Parts: sequence; C-alpha cells; structure tokens
Amino acid sequence: APLHLQAPPAPTPSVNSLKASNLFFSPAPPGTDRSGTRGRYMLSIPWSKQSGWGQPKIGPLETINLDPLAGALQYAVSCFEGMKCYKGEDGQLRLFRPDKNFDRLKRSAWRIGLPYDWDNSELLDLLVKLVALEAPIVPNEDGTNLYIRPTLIDASSSFGLREDGLASEAMLYVATGINVGTKIYPSADGKGLKLNTSSDFIRAWPGGTGSYKLGANYGESKRPVHIAKQPGYAMSLWLHGDRDYISEAGGMNIFVIKQASDGFLEFVTMSLANGIVLPGVTRSSIIELLTNHASGIKDFPTVGMPKNIRVVERDIPMQEIIDGIADGFFGCGTGVVVVSIAEITYANNVYHIPYNPLVRLIRDTMTALQRGKIESEWSYKV
Ligand code: PMP
Repeated sequence: APLHLQAPPAPTPSVNSLKASNLFFSPAPPGTDRSGTRGRYMLSIPWSKQSGWGQPKIGPLETINLDPLAGALQYAVSCFEGMKCYKGEDGQLRLFRPDKNFDRLKRSAWRIGLPYDWDNSELLDLLVKLVALEAPIVPNEDGTNLYIRPTLIDASSSFGLREDGLASEAMLYVATGINVGTKIYPSADGKGLKLNTSSDFIRAWPGGTGSYKLGANYGESKRPVHIAKQPGYAMSLWLHGDRDYISEAGGMNIFVIKQASDGFLEFVTMSLANGIVLPGVTRSSIIELLTNHASGIKDFPTVGMPKNIRVVERDIPMQEIIDGIADGFFGCGTGVVVVSIAEITYANNVYHIPYNPLVRLIRDTMTALQRGKIESEWSYKV
C-alpha cells in the first residue's frame, strides 16, 4: 500500500518529560474565572529535536510567542484534533475515545514532519488534569460540552534549509472552549441541512492530505466554503474524481442509507482506501455499532435498529443521488454528532432526500454513549 495509507512507522522515541509528575502548574489568579466561551486554562508541551519533549505546563490561557518565520506560520505546518468532554446528568465528566484522537494526531504529525513519539496514556493523564480544572464551568445539559482542541505546530524557523527537512522545534498545546449548545445545526429530525456542491474546488485527492487533520486542509477550504454557503445552505458537500464522488461535508463524514434489492438496508459511506476523507471517530464508532449489530456480536445499544442491515464502504457517485436511490442521508462528526441532510444542490438542480428515522436513533444512541447515559468502554471518566 502507498505510504499515505499505512500507519506511521514506529518513531525513534525522543527524550521524554511528558509525564504528569513533571507538570508545572500555574493557577489562574483569583477572579479570572470567565463565563465566556473559552476554557480558563491551557496545556502546553515544548519539543525540540535536541532535547525531545520538555516539561508540560498547565496555566491560564495565554497567547503564544512564535518566530515570524516559524513553519506553522509560513508553511502551515500545523495539525490539530477536535474532541469533546461531556458532563453527564450525574455530574461526571467523560471523554469519548480519546485514544482515537491522539492516534489521528500522530498520523497528522507524521505527514507534515512533526514529532509523533509521545505516549498516549501520558498525554491523556495531562489532558485529564486540564479538563478537571474546567469541570465547574462545563454545563451538563444535552448538547453542551467542553470542546477540546489539541494542536501541534512547527515552531522552528523555516528560513533556509533544514538538515532533514523536518521540524527542529515544535509545540503541542491544548486549548478548550465551552460549548453551550448553540443551535447552529437543525436536529436529526425532519428538515435536515441543505448542502451545496461545487465542481470547481476540490478538497482532497489521492495521495494528498485529505485524510489528515492538517490546518492547511481547513485553510484551503475557506473561500470555497464561503462561496458554497449561500443563504440557507449549511455547508459545502465536497466532491472529487471523474464521477463527482461524494466525500464529506464541513466537519462531517457522510452516510447514505439505501434499500438494497436483497432486502438489506445499507449504510453506505465513503471508503478510506484512497486517503481522501478524514477517518472520523464518529464514523468509525457508527460503523462498529452497526456491523456488530448486523453480525450478532453485540446488539445496537438502543432498540429499533433492524437486523438486516449492512455497512458498505465505497465511493458514492453523485449520480446515485440524482437517481433518487437514497432512503436517507446523514452527516456525522464530533461537532454535529449526527445530522440529517435533506437537500443537495448540484449543477443548479436541487435534490431532496427523504428523512429516515434511523438517523434520529443513531444520533440519540451516540449522544447517550457520549454522555454516559449508556455505559460503554468508549467513555473515559475524568
Ligand atoms: N471530516 C472532516 C473534514 C472533519 O474536520 C471532521 C471533524 N474532525 C470529520 C470529518 C469528523 O471526524 P470526527 O468524527 O472524528 O469528529
């Protein structure tokens, strides 16, 4: 398989002080508690080629200093993650499958020449300390959470050539935001989102960086998304290839629900094989729930999911939507959880997609797993 489809090679471990026992903690001065949209604290860990991971620090959220020629600023050598911590009705904070995000950050870091040799469990220990500090200001109503943004950037000056072409200094930091459940997206019920498509702008291509969570992927999409977001449209549905294959939309992977001729209900989602879509944590969780249910390994955690279902990972040409074969269409991701798509505009035509109540079932199930209403090994208690 081409390199971009393989797991990153095992790194040579650098010197590592990334342990929670090395943590330097600087408390926020009294009275700085903010009820705003940002967490009060940040975690930061410096890295250099010479001395590896340095002392982790948790202190009040602050601006960072960078060389004006830093690789992060000049060449977008920056990658990140988006994860959430949920407070349940029981007051307990839970992270959802944090290892998945840390592994994806490693893949992204590898792709752009940043260090990726940290120990996930050490990073998790530090993250837990950060999140615990925000516990009092995390709301616990449905739809609210603490949004967590791990970020890894190239802090080394990019002036002139580097020996091996890779970063010699980097910084891993985590900032957070309070998500108070603003209703940007309609629910999974009834009227879903309207998506626009464009054949002029391509988000990702085979061998490119689409399957990595790089800042550059989101920067390049700013203008196309602005254009696609005409009034009423939620976001742009990205297409690629000679048959305008559906890849993903905004921060969401896509599932098309389709009644197959053999009586099975198919959940079709873009394959990861050509490295174009981001391997979403929500996507893989839904695939796991559905395939376990279909094969009898483990029932879907809530009642109502039919037994004769299957998941199909393949490219979906836009023509299938035009032909009206979709019996449901939804997007999924950490941000939206699961949301129905009702309408797609393609080449000046509007295609309506019927609402499928299973979308609601999947959404409620994912939400219950995240908030701990359904206990599972996917929840990591803080
Ligand atoms: N695709 C893109 C382009 C995204 O930015 C995201 C959000 N990380 C997703 C899909 C969904 O991924 P996840 O389920 O891990 O949030």
